Amino acid sequence: MSGTIALRIGTMTNKSKLEKLNQEIIQCRKCARLVAWREEVARVKRKAYIDQEYWGKPVPGFGDPTARVVVVGLAPGAHGSNRTGRNFTGDASGAFLYPALYRAGFASQPTAESRSDGLILKDLYIAASARCAPPGNKPTLEELDNCQPYLERDLEILKPKVIVCLGRVAFERILKIYGIRNSKLKFAHGALYKLNTDSLYADLLNTEHWLLCSYHPSQQNTLTGKLTVKMFDDIWMKAKLLSK
Ligand code: SF4
Repeated sequence: MSGTIALRIGTMTNKSKLEKLNQEIIQCRKCARLVAWREEVARVKRKAYIDQEYWGKPVPGFGDPTARVVVVGLAPGAHGSNRTGRNFTGDASGAFLYPALYRAGFASQPTAESRSDGLILKDLYIAASARCAPPGNKPTLEELDNCQPYLERDLEILKPKVIVCLGRVAFERILKIYGIRNSKLKFAHGALYKLNTDSLYADLLNTEHWLLCSYHPSQQNTLTGKLTVKMFDDIWMKAKLLSK
């Protein structure tokens, strides 16, 4: 089989596996508190979006099915992706994230307004620690545990070379998924760790896989200067280099 054909079949397989997974995610109602919250927010709406139909469901993964870089966020924003149905779309975090991804060559455009805005991600896929909008942006441990199998399956399908964790919650979730209990591994912006390849990557033991940490691009971090444009650009340049 030629390399091109093999690559094309591989692409189709990943694409269909991710589509199947995303269909499952969208129908999930495992966390009663989050189901009630996401639907209540979608019903009441924010005044600025009163004429829009909110998504109000779990937000599936989004991006390139052959991505070598997987981004793990926290959870959908109540009036961002819980409204638009796509990760980091239609809120302030996305308005900081997508321009950075565009500058690094991972995104086809710097803006993300709706699922039909034409945005395409290249070599990058966005997932989350929890797929439903939580009250106060804080999913409980139980809710994160409920949602973890979806993230595990994203990683199993994509086998990324680089996982970028946006924030401590995502970092701790990845450590849990990989069964890493090394207390020396701390979350810090720019921290970089080589992943244990024994479990999910049994067939790729000779390849290096990385875990790269970044502050989350929430307004809490970007408006206070804790996360600057330069700091964020450095993360994506590093992710790009590591993914080669
Ligand atoms: S957070 Fe995850 S596990 Fe819980 S209801 Fe939403 S999709 Fe299901």
